[in-house]
Amino acid sequence: LRTFHGGVNPIDNKKQSRYFKIEELAPPSFVVLPLSQHIGVKANSIVTAGQSVLCGQKVAEANGNISANIHSPISGLVEKISLHLHPNGSIVESIFIKNDFKNTTLPKSSSKKNVSDLTATEIVSAVREAGIVGLGGAAFPTHVKLSCGKPIKTIIINGTECEPYLTADYRIMLEYPEKIIMGALAISKCTGATEVIIVVEDNKKEAVETLKQYASALPSFKIVSLPSKYPQGSEKHIIYAIKGIEVPPGALPSDVGCIVDNVSTCAAICDCLEMGYPLTHRVITVSGGAFSHAQDYRVPIGTPISHIIEQHGGFASSPNRILLGGPMMGLAQVSLDVPVIKGTNGLLALTEKEVKKDRETACIRCGRCVDGCPMRLRPINLANYTKRANTEGLKSENIVDCIECGCCSYTCPAKIHLLQWIKTGKGMLHKV
Ligand code: SF4
Ligand code: SF4
Repeated sequence: LRTFHGGVNPIDNKKQSRYFKIEELAPPSFVVLPLSQHIGVKANSIVTAGQSVLCGQKVAEANGNISANIHSPISGLVEKISLHLHPNGSIVESIFIKNDFKNTTLPKSSSKKNVSDLTATEIVSAVREAGIVGLGGAAFPTHVKLSCGKPIKTIIINGTECEPYLTADYRIMLEYPEKIIMGALAISKCTGATEVIIVVEDNKKEAVETLKQYASALPSFKIVSLPSKYPQGSEKHIIYAIKGIEVPPGALPSDVGCIVDNVSTCAAICDCLEMGYPLTHRVITVSGGAFSHAQDYRVPIGTPISHIIEQHGGFASSPNRILLGGPMMGLAQVSLDVPVIKGTNGLLALTEKEVKKDRETACIRCGRCVDGCPMRLRPINLANYTKRANTEGLKSENIVDCIECGCCSYTCPAKIHLLQWIKTGKGMLHKV
């Protein structure tokens, strides 16, 4: 086993929530479903205001192959379809559904199915219909990976969950290991892969043991424990650590014979195949020093975060920053009206002490940002070119290869907001 260049070891802050079973919250009185919750083209709404919908009913249809269907997690009435604040800060057309609290579900179309009873085409079609996307945060439509048409040898199931505070994947590995195994089997059947490697960081030993027990009868399965290091969960870095293969810039994991999928995505694939459930709920970690406690919850997608905060008991102290996702790659929120979307894996309310907003000082040319960059970039050069609006310089320093992991900002002793500058630089290039 190798490790990748760079990376950081932040305090993992997982003990606050890791020992508690996933819980459900009281349902929200309404949900907001943005039509864009995935990488690719936004979905098209297929409902109108005033229409009744049932739990699991499709309310928006994928627009082309790289897109994803969206389903209602509750039964009720479509109130309106209008613009609403998205967790990424943009304003996106969204479907508002008022809960009738009857929880009326669509009639089941089929009986329980096993992967061995289904063809690869049937699996891909079911996953596409269920609107499943990568639940590790990237939200790439899963059916596209399953039907990539390239020779795939290895499926890597990502259970590293390297972001501090987050424990949703960890709890799923402990509580639903059989679903992860079944989802992984389905992926290997679709792609023709001959080996499945489930990768877990060594700060989750119980998950490793649990998965080993459940996969013991499957010779093509391996459970591998890697040293904890951020950003271990990045596709390119996990492939390098496991297979020793570098995915070239601009290439995909499938170009080197690998598919990487998250453990929660596998569980969602299992639910869709076995139970016929579309992706309407997901598990998120609610944590951070501004709460009195931390807990993983299974929540309906579309739940406003204000509802989750209220049901969790509200803030114990005033939060300095609210994040959706982890502290390294999560998105800071300006409103509590934003909903949980398919890619949301955490809701953090951090105190001033946890945020550590130090004043930016001059660069001391220490090179720590370069040493810490897992993509072997020179973050300080990227920041400086952005400040000078030098787009040619940004291209020559390969800014597009930046995976926005934030290791550079984390390591910088001068507290320069390197990632922020890099994101601004990427925006400049898009406008050219
Ligand atoms: S330059 Fe990009 S990839 Fe490199 S450490 Fe900074 S955020 Fe991560
Ligand atoms: S880590 Fe910060 S201070 Fe050191 S070279 Fe990079 S930008 Fe400059």
